[in-house]
Amino acid sequence: MSVMVPSTTPAQSAGNEALESALFQLDRAAERLGLDDGLRNMLATPRRSLTVSVPVRRDDGNMDVVQGYRVQHNVTRGPAKGGIRFHPATDIDEVTALAMWMTWKCALVGVPYGGAKGGVTVDPAQYTTQELERLTRRYVSEILPLIGPDKDIPAPDVGTNEQTMAWIMDTYSVSAGYAVPGVVTGKPMTLGGSLGRAAATSRGVQIAALAALGRAPEGVTVAVQGFGKVGAGAAQFLADAGCKVVAISDVTGGVYAADGLDVAALRAWVAETGMVRGYRDADELGLDELLELDVDVLVPAALEGAITEANAPRVRARLIVEGANGPTTPEADRILAANGTVIVPDILANAGGVIVSYLEWVQNLQAFSWTESQIERKLRDMMESAYGEVKSVAAERDLTLREAAHVIGVGRVAEAHRMRGLYP
Ligand code: NAD
Repeated sequence: MSVMVPSTTPAQSAGNEALESALFQLDRAAERLGLDDGLRNMLATPRRSLTVSVPVRRDDGNMDVVQGYRVQHNVTRGPAKGGIRFHPATDIDEVTALAMWMTWKCALVGVPYGGAKGGVTVDPAQYTTQELERLTRRYVSEILPLIGPDKDIPAPDVGTNEQTMAWIMDTYSVSAGYAVPGVVTGKPMTLGGSLGRAAATSRGVQIAALAALGRAPEGVTVAVQGFGKVGAGAAQFLADAGCKVVAISDVTGGVYAADGLDVAALRAWVAETGMVRGYRDADELGLDELLELDVDVLVPAALEGAITEANAPRVRARLIVEGANGPTTPEADRILAANGTVIVPDILANAGGVIVSYLEWVQNLQAFSWTESQIERKLRDMMESAYGEVKSVAAERDLTLREAAHVIGVGRVAEAHRMRGLYP
């Protein structure tokens, strides 16, 4: 039996599709683990889910009202943990799916957290910095009762950054009456951020990609979808390792160079112009074309639902390393598996971010700091050990890496529920 989670939107939204994917993956893992319906239903529904109205004063004096969300999917293994997304298409279903994936991810890599996610349905590009500050502070005030260093610890996601985290830390701290750095991760260094956090998700993608490649990276061709916090760093680290990054896109368009792109020069171009489109030392490439290039490795690092039933038959990469959360639908998964494509799934491939967020939080709680090389070593150890576990469960049980990762993650959360028992 699977659980129906009601959608708030009448038509099928991207968020609704993401939630359907997450529930499908949970159901398959629950079957493989032999979970009873009660426990499966508990894992299919979020523990707490808050929708808030966020009034924002615009610079011209007018007021906008936008919707915000914070979903704590599970808090059985520890405080809830997950990013905050500012995006015009974000809705409660998307945030719920992302929170559920956080639960399995934290369990899979062995950090003592449950899963959460937050979002505001807004296009940050349409707001000035001052407006974004007011929006962030009001959103945080609305979700304030839920968050805290022992309860729920936000982090950056699509459309948010370390400045957003600084405003969250300040809003929470002003309300508490003292500085509480441990309430968010991904903060600036001056406020208790961790060395290595900004690059952590991308570094983790590189570690996962090189582990899955199983051969020397020199000359391996790579295409990266999305050139934000995750995609730009992943492209850079893969190029640094010797791969040939031939194609990169962001929401404005894509670029291609058969001999390999100069990732640092493209980053400089994007820093200057705000977009990949128009970069002169490469050919133009369509957004859909990038996903179907004849490359060795494809790194989707944008949003959910990039690889679907419609384009999966044309995907030619032999290895997909999911920097983004939920970029491949279950139908696409089936097609790719049948074609022999290996996918390092999101909850493993992009776990570097939550691993170093955990290290940042530990440093905050104990008021000390590790060096960058200590952070990198811990990140590498945790990523490689999670990858090794997933690989061996996949081999033992004849599963894909995604199926194996979910069996491990869901299994650990289910075991924690069993040990704690049901109150009362
Ligand atoms: P970001 O806002 O920094 O960057 C997103 C990028 O995707 C931008 O370059 C944007 O232009 C691009 N994009 C959007 N739609 C696109 C499309 N249709 N085609 C091509 N490019 C498109 O966000 P981010 O933090 O890099 O997050 C990207 C993904 O990684 C998300 O799925 C997020 O949940 C996941 N993730 C992020 C972190 C983190 O630490 N930031 C950690 C784990 C997972």
